[in-house]
Amino acid sequence: MPWSERQQAMLREMGLRVWEPTTPTTPTRPPAAARTVEAVATGSIDTARKVAEAEPAPRAAVASAVGTAPVAPAAPSPATATSTTVSHLGWPELREAVAACQACRLCESRKQTVFGVGHAQAHWMIVGEAPGAQEDEQGEPFVGAAGQLLDAMLLALGLDRSAEGEPAARVFIANTLKCRPPGNRNPQADEMERCEPFLVRQIELVRPRIILAMGRFAVQALLRTSEPVGRLRGRAHRYQGVPLVVTYHPAYLLRNLPDKARAWEDLCLAADLLAQQAGPGVHQASAPAQ
Ligand code: URA
Repeated sequence: MPWSERQQAMLREMGLRVWEPTTPTTPTRPPAAARTVEAVATGSIDTARKVAEAEPAPRAAVASAVGTAPVAPAAPSPATATSTTVSHLGWPELREAVAACQACRLCESRKQTVFGVGHAQAHWMIVGEAPGAQEDEQGEPFVGAAGQLLDAMLLALGLDRSAEGEPAARVFIANTLKCRPPGNRNPQADEMERCEPFLVRQIELVRPRIILAMGRFAVQALLRTSEPVGRLRGRAHRYQGVPLVVTYHPAYLLRNLPDKARAWEDLCLAADLLAQQAGPGVHQASAPAQ
């Protein structure tokens, strides 16, 4: 039993669910996770971060670790990252295409593109908004304060962004935009439109079993709706046949701590939807169209 009686009583008292795996394919929660979720649930980000740091999850950029496609077509020319040119690319070519992209004005102000990170066959696909200053510096999504909260919440479910290991215990994290909007302004419609083929192809390649859309721009890109997150969260949606759960963006959670409990419920819902998928056959059936 990964939870102590005291922890369970405390979480129940707060009205928070203790998520328990229901199928053998679900990852076993590591020892640190119990302490991390307690910290996440009680709103202590610092404690969650410390627990996560005490037993850090290995990180590796996906570039060197992802599998290659059987055929390796050339990356499209910089300004033509349309869905047709991107839709047949394997991981290395896709990464190359993102790095070379000049399809919108953001290429002028970025330090580097932020492709995504995680396991090439992760069961979980996490979609955020756009890189911020730290991500632009480091070339990896969610490395700032919002990312630390995200990592802590994922760790509470026994998940991390390592490129190696068991896909059931791994996530792939990507943004709707691969370049930082200057001054962290909101993404603009034409930027989202031009960048979208990259995200679509990433999802096709990962073939996740569950997608978590964090914040309104991820929701707009994947569900084509401008409904507020608060109205879409708490239930299952679908993207190309894959179950999708909407939740708050971690940067929003840092400013609105009471909504962390709701975000935790959303993660538990996603874990439940994943656990309901009985095995590899179900994955094949619900994978996005290639
Ligand atoms: N916010 C995002 O949506 N993505 C990042 O990579 C960092 C912050």
